Amino acid sequence: MNDLVKRQARLQQLLLDSDTTTQAVRAGQMSGVEQEHNDAIYTTSSFVYGSAAEAAGRFGGSEPGNIYSRFTNPTVATFEKRMAALEGAERGVAASSGMAALSSIFFGHLQQGDHVVSSNSIFGSIVGLFDNIISKFGIQVTYVCPTDHEAWQAAMQSNTKMLFCESPSNPLAEVADIGYLAGLAHANNALLVVDNCFCTPALQNPLALGADIVMHSATKYIDGQGRCVGGIALGSEELMEPVHGFLRTAGTTMSPFNAWVFINGLETLALRMQAHCQSAMQVAQWLAQQPQVERVYYSGLTSHPQHQLAKRQQSYFGGVVSFDVAGDQDAAWRFVDHTQLLSITGNFGDAKSTITHPATTTHGRMTEEARAAAGISDSLLRVSVGLEHVDDIIADLQRGLDAV
Ligand SMILES: *Cc1c(COP(=O)(O)O)cnc(C)c1O
Repeated sequence: MNDLVKRQARLQQLLLDSDTTTQAVRAGQMSGVEQEHNDAIYTTSSFVYGSAAEAAGRFGGSEPGNIYSRFTNPTVATFEKRMAALEGAERGVAASSGMAALSSIFFGHLQQGDHVVSSNSIFGSIVGLFDNIISKFGIQVTYVCPTDHEAWQAAMQSNTKMLFCESPSNPLAEVADIGYLAGLAHANNALLVVDNCFCTPALQNPLALGADIVMHSATKYIDGQGRCVGGIALGSEELMEPVHGFLRTAGTTMSPFNAWVFINGLETLALRMQAHCQSAMQVAQWLAQQPQVERVYYSGLTSHPQHQLAKRQQSYFGGVVSFDVAGDQDAAWRFVDHTQLLSITGNFGDAKSTITHPATTTHGRMTEEARAAAGISDSLLRVSVGLEHVDDIIADLQRGLDAV
């Protein structure tokens, strides 16, 4: 081993006991012969060997190492290791999108005849995945209100293999009790899968609260600047093996370039989240005082029904604030159209503040009844509070309000 390899190996050992802000900058860096200070992008589809025997060993699994970038890639591995450090997971499996990570979790762990209990307050495309695709394979899903413990209990069946929730939820910021759901899942030999997009590992670690698998859409805060689509599943070696097994065969793999963007995004994650959260709190408090706003959904407000639970589970309350304007869909659309600074888009977790009308965009493919059951009204707006000065963000929201 040369000095550089030894030094890098020592650093990775040191990082095991370091703070997560330090891990976010350093964990998972390659300990090879590379001398780059920054992480390299391995844009190679396949890898070569010194001999036929070495190739056979690699393909047969007796020798560790890369074969083909649909299976593994060094840049993607750095992203997986860094995320695993931040979530306290044994292993991460990166995927081409958040939905690809979820597909890999579901197809890796479920089979015909299985049953899933899911929160009804989840990302719209996940409802589509459950109702239109997973269902075709004989896997049934029962939806429940994420905060109603009796409903979760009542939905459990002898064939329930998985519980799924997002906390805080999108867009209504409902906070699910992760410890409680983990207990319920484990008493039934089922797995608890938690979508941690809204908090990121900087604010919440579902595995430490008892969850079995945590997933992220890296597209959001992990990138942080709205450049790439990606996702990741994290958990124990044992639970990640079937997830990776699906991914390497089905090809839901993350590209090395995207992994490199996310690795760099992670280096500033803690600082960015701090700024997003502080401004979001100010925005939520300001909105709560406006007469044209009927209700604000933000777990940081003491009026939020699960504020105490959010305080226990999360180190802070996140950067997304949703609210009902007084009026109907037209009023909500007028609000959107009269903003000037905010980007009108479905994405969130960006340095740029964004505004979304969920009922006609991100949640537009749900049936009207499903939307009503999930509490997504026609007057609901979601703001992802970015890194612009908070006074400028609030001034823009005032422009929207004046038009309601
Ligand atoms: C965006 C999102 C997803 C899906 O991720 P993609 O990267 O868009 O595939 C899943 N869950 C939540 C909460 C999201 O916001």
